Amino acid sequence: MDPIKNLQQAIASITIWRKGEQRAPHKPLLLLYVLACYQHGHSRLFDYGSEIRDNLHGLLERFGPQRAQYRPDMPFWRLQADGFWELQNAERCSTSGSSRQPPAGELVEHHVAGGFDEQHYSLLIKSKTLINSLAQQILEAHFAESIQEELAEELGFNLLQIRKQRDPLFRQQVLRAYNYQCAICGFNLRHDNASIALEAAHIKWKQHGGPCEVANGLALCAIHHKAFDKGSLGVDENMRVQISSAVNGNSIVSRLFWDFSGVQIQLPMQKENYPQANYIEWHTREIFRK
Ligand SMILES: [Zn+2]
Repeated sequence: MDPIKNLQQAIASITIWRKGEQRAPHKPLLLLYVLACYQHGHSRLFDYGSEIRDNLHGLLERFGPQRAQYRPDMPFWRLQADGFWELQNAERCSTSGSSRQPPAGELVEHHVAGGFDEQHYSLLIKSKTLINSLAQQILEAHFAESIQEELAEELGFNLLQIRKQRDPLFRQQVLRAYNYQCAICGFNLRHDNASIALEAAHIKWKQHGGPCEVANGLALCAIHHKAFDKGSLGVDENMRVQISSAVNGNSIVSRLFWDFSGVQIQLPMQKENYPQANYIEWHTREIFRK
């Protein structure tokens, strides 16, 4: 089999630890970080303690779901099972020879290093195009579109184009159900008959099985859509707007965000089009950041 196809396939099928419907972007974020470094000429292996731990922790804090604790050691160790990732000095850890993961401190203490194996690393350093296409593949599989753009920009990937794969019917049905205005602020700019900067947001991300149905949609202006995908704002079980305590800015930000805190969103006319409770719960748990 073509080694490049092989690698694409292996990355597409990385095993993601899932508990119920929890989002666990640990392996995707680690791979993106490593690919970004390869693009700038990094050598094959990364020392866990000095290169991975803090950087991946920071990415998990910002792009993962809000958790009491983050575990950057988990993907670093567990990627070994996915067919392209190798560790050095792993045999020095107390769990050597078993499938168990050693305590995170041992990765630092024994200078465990990890990265793509020789075969795949040699493909990657030869081709920035390959690095970028793998990065795009990972972003599309695990993150909402607005977050794909943000991560690509931060890590320095050139995406061909964020692929808009969504059902055009979804956009049309959602905007119509919400009377062509933002469910939060009522924004409804039109240029003649065309709505400008008004978008159909998925409440539960497509990447996590959220369907393209009105009950999983919200019509939002571009600003509230971006903030909704980022977890800066959410909606509670009574359809009231919740603002993350992390949101700050000047008076225009207050007007766009804090003025709507606790205010009910503008709901569709028909009850069957209301956001469905299980999608709202998923967003509150996995995306919204109190
Ligand atoms: Zn809005």
